Amino acid sequence: MNKKDWDPAVVLPICITCMLIGSMTLELIYVILRDSGSSCLALLILTSYLLFNVVGNMWKFVRTSPTIKGVFLEQGSVGQGWVYCYTCQTHVPPRCQHCYNCNVCILRRDHHCALLSQCVGHANYRYFFCSLFYGWLALLLSTILNAEIFIELLHDGISFHSFFLLLMPWMMLFTGQVTPSTFIFAFVADTCVIGFLFCFAFLVLHCSLLYRGATTKEWFGGLARTYDHGWKRNARNFLGERWYLVWISPWVESKLVGDGINFTARQVFHKRLLTSNPYVESPYPK
Ligand SMILES: [Zn+2]
Ligand SMILES: [Zn+2]
Repeated sequence: MNKKDWDPAVVLPICITCMLIGSMTLELIYVILRDSGSSCLALLILTSYLLFNVVGNMWKFVRTSPTIKGVFLEQGSVGQGWVYCYTCQTHVPPRCQHCYNCNVCILRRDHHCALLSQCVGHANYRYFFCSLFYGWLALLLSTILNAEIFIELLHDGISFHSFFLLLMPWMMLFTGQVTPSTFIFAFVADTCVIGFLFCFAFLVLHCSLLYRGATTKEWFGGLARTYDHGWKRNARNFLGERWYLVWISPWVESKLVGDGINFTARQVFHKRLLTSNPYVESPYPK
């Protein structure tokens, strides 16, 4: 780790994310051991596998730099689509964008992940997508297994007490309305449900992006189809050559296709695309 890695703005979100994952895992293990009976071992193995993929992909995501640092940007090929970044003081290729949190340009930038203080780009998209997918699965399992806790909390029907306990457990704890143990269960169960809904929405968005081969910015900028080469090739471009195996483990090799600098745009006969991208052959007579 270099000095910048110890910046509180980088370390704090990672610590909070780790604490949330740790507390949800402990609560999930407790619920499995308490209620699951004969399926206990199978659920513990499943939980371990999901956790391995969530944490492993997060680890690889944070350790894989998506920036232009150390990348030879082929200064000779600067052309249309390239822009000059005044902060980094260099020309950067198409789809590359400066991140003001990371303070560096990111190759095929998608967005800045606030939970892990790292940008999502060409080099680490695979780890981001897999941790999101497995995070969603883990939270789905957790929400299903926590259903009993919600039923327990609501055993007297929907009262103001249960309503506030589920929506504002902190307030109920500070006002002495619930014991610390009830608060912990309500808080962690709440976090699981909110996390599940959040991951689900994000996963749907990124499945759509992956299907189209687009970044978030391209999607919202109306350029979602610019680099769309069909779902199979898009999956290769985003997840690597062995895109069908990356789900097994973050340590399965899947060599990246392309260098994050040169991209082939779809050959659509659209003037805006043709004038903005140098990699498309013009169908118009010269
Ligand atoms: Zn820059
Ligand atoms: Zn960033």
